[in-house]
Amino acid sequence: MSNALPDSTSYVVVGGGVHGLSTAWHLAMTLKQMGKGSGADVILLDKSHPGAGSTGVACGIVRNFYMTEPMHTLVKESVGVWTYDPILFGYQQVGFISCGDKSQIPDYEKMYQNHCAIEYPSDLYVGAEAKTFLKRLWPDFNPHSIEAVLHEKLGGYSGTARFVQGMVEMCTRYGVNIHSGVEVQNYQMANGRVTALETNKGTVKCDMVVLAVGPWMGKHWELLGKPDRLDVTYQDGSSIKGKDMWTYWRLEEGEVYYDRPYLTSDQKNPPVLHIELMDTPVPHPSNGREISGNVYVYWKYASERLNCPGLQGGAMPIKLGPKAILDPYGHANDNYQAGSEFADYLTACMGMFMDNLKGLRKNFKERRNGGIGAFTPDNLPILDWIKDNVFMIADSGHGYKLTGVGKLLAKQLVSGRPEEALKPFAFSRYEKGQAFGSGHTKVPWV
Ligand SMILES: Cc1cc2nc3c(=O)[nH]c(=O)nc-3n(C[C@H](O)[C@H](O)[C@H](O)COP(=O)(O)OP(=O)(O)OC[C@H]3O[C@@H](n4cnc5c(N)ncnc54)[C@H](O)[C@@H]3O)c2cc1C
Repeated sequence: MSNALPDSTSYVVVGGGVHGLSTAWHLAMTLKQMGKGSGADVILLDKSHPGAGSTGVACGIVRNFYMTEPMHTLVKESVGVWTYDPILFGYQQVGFISCGDKSQIPDYEKMYQNHCAIEYPSDLYVGAEAKTFLKRLWPDFNPHSIEAVLHEKLGGYSGTARFVQGMVEMCTRYGVNIHSGVEVQNYQMANGRVTALETNKGTVKCDMVVLAVGPWMGKHWELLGKPDRLDVTYQDGSSIKGKDMWTYWRLEEGEVYYDRPYLTSDQKNPPVLHIELMDTPVPHPSNGREISGNVYVYWKYASERLNCPGLQGGAMPIKLGPKAILDPYGHANDNYQAGSEFADYLTACMGMFMDNLKGLRKNFKERRNGGIGAFTPDNLPILDWIKDNVFMIADSGHGYKLTGVGKLLAKQLVSGRPEEALKPFAFSRYEKGQAFGSGHTKVPWV
């Protein structure tokens, strides 16, 4: 990696998270394949280093559990990137199982039908079949009010450090220069275009900018003269005036030491498990007191974060509002650390659903955890031009899994032809009455 910042370049990618890295790698590869250039035409700038944002602190889960159908194609495309080199990216394709209650059966059926329509292999189990399926996988499973199960075969997870290293390797292999410690502080503009980026290490003239700064997007949105509120019209005709452009959510996650084998009945690494039950209370394991009126929890095998066998999981995120303290980010930020209530909740849920996981509160790893994300007005990605030559990837907290966005964008930039899969995520959806609705869930991932 060279540290000399060029005076000018064709493509500048700002941000070394999943989207910046994937875009830079695919741009370099696509330019070469189409005989239109190479990685020498692309630079990536990061104010800290690759993986310093959400990508570095994510749980690392890849799933296609979305009420919003256009997301299914983005995830399918992304699985193609994950499996391009699963070893380099640390991708464990163990599958993903989501569990819901009776009220969610129609949502599950819709998701399953759409998975079938796009040939994304999944199985749906409802009623007694759902319970039987879970007990077959985990004989100690207590299904409680679970009545719907969607089993995605292609999902899984990847350790974040390994993944970032793999992506940097792909960028480097294709000749992209990654400049760490370079912060974009302002934009020079003429006739609706950005002509140069002003950084702490000097000014870089450029033809095209891909903005992939994750939770920091609000700051750049403002620098580019965009409004902090907007009117949003949904597909059912309803609308909300003056909605905040960005809303910050705090994501709570953590790890639990578990030195017995966490395996399925056929001795395999289990699928990622995700359970949302709207009206099923979670009792405190020692005194039975209700610690929550509903279940929202996920967990999977984790060894990267623990350096020994264990489980990693998360629960309901916490809404912060239109402002948040972004720096320092993630584990370094005193304001946004998962507290003891989170540890109580996660471990209570684990014991509630699996007998073998009872009593794990004492095994919770006390350490800094979690991070925040910037969510869009309808909690779904905005993937669009926000200046004539600035493309914004704002994934609304969905994005570790979305490695395919950078691939699709690279194809679009090099060929000059819009990619169908990106179109539903245009910014204009808010005024055109195409904003997405929310489905039956209490979380912002819809
Ligand atoms: C705790 C947590 C768990 C998560 N778990 C999952 C999960 O399991 N699965 C999933 O799909 N998603 C998950 N997510 C969401 C996912 O991590 C993010 O949506 C995704 O990583 C965002 O990637 P990004 O490339 O947009 O941004 P980031 O990864 O945040 O990268 C942005 C980069 O931009 C750099 N930057 C910022 N400002 C500037 C500037 N001015 N100049 C230069 N560089 C700059 C930063 O240093 C940073 O490296 C999770 C998020 C959190 C917080």
